[in-house]
Amino acid sequence: MANDKYAQVRLISKPENILKTIYTACRTCYSSDSPLNIYDCDSAQDTEKMLKLINKVVSSGHYSTIEHIQVSFAISNISRACSHQLVRHRLMSFSQKSQRYVKEKEQFDYIIPDTIENNTELKQKFEELMNKISDLYIEFTKKGIPAEDARAMLPNAASTSMVASLNLRELIHLANLRLCSRAQKEIRILVKRMCDELIKEEPWLKDYLVPKCERWGFCDEDKSCGRMPLKGQ
Ligand SMILES: Cc1cc2nc3c(=O)[nH]c(=O)nc-3n(C[C@H](O)[C@H](O)[C@H](O)COP(=O)(O)OP(=O)(O)OC[C@H]3O[C@@H](n4cnc5c(N)ncnc54)[C@H](O)[C@@H]3O)c2cc1C
Repeated sequence: MANDKYAQVRLISKPENILKTIYTACRTCYSSDSPLNIYDCDSAQDTEKMLKLINKVVSSGHYSTIEHIQVSFAISNISRACSHQLVRHRLMSFSQKSQRYVKEKEQFDYIIPDTIENNTELKQKFEELMNKISDLYIEFTKKGIPAEDARAMLPNAASTSMVASLNLRELIHLANLRLCSRAQKEIRILVKRMCDELIKEEPWLKDYLVPKCERWGFCDEDKSCGRMPLKGQ
């Protein structure tokens, strides 16, 4: 069945005291006090105070302090093209629906990119191709070809799902790269939804989970969207 919606994303796991944990990590580096005392101290109740120190430390490039925070997302309804881009991020951990063990018994789900969705003639051709592939896949598997081999004919558009986990440093890096308008729309939407899920719980992160140009104040892309001045201008 064709599906014109993009990623479905839910934050399924995060530490309880994100801000306090990062604050404790930051202060531990510069204090004679123990991390336990820092964690329990009055300042670790004061959000504004914690944020002031965290922003200073993180903007100076002291990134180990944000590596202590690990988050996990349940992700579905993304294309294999999109998941392939995501799994290039080497500091993330993934558990993805297997095309070896999960056999498609009827028309496989697939993602239609908007540019095709919005062109009636080409969308019809695209859907005809998906139906044809599905018929062949089912014929092959019914005739004894294992799913792990029949999947060779499944397209990049085939839908997939996964659990993806990463630490906050990697999430910020992912956002910086993949929220950029030069990234493909599907992964941009996926990463935006991942970020929004976490920002709902930790609003202070909205200033970090942004495209790289917003962090740097300039754009380093050849084909800039024009939102920020080009590097060196
Ligand atoms: C718009 C866009 C277009 C792209 N187009 C292509 C393309 O055409 N072809 C293609 O192959 N890829 C493409 N990529 C993927 C890109 O090359 C990276 O593989 C991907 O973005 C992962 O980024 P990363 O390596 O910075 O980060 P991650 O793998 O998430 O790693 C995070 C950081 O850890 C460090 N790190 C991780 N591993 C190493 C290592 N082995 N050595 C040193 N430092 C390391 C680096 O500082 C890195 O930035 C594209 C990415 C984007 C955003």
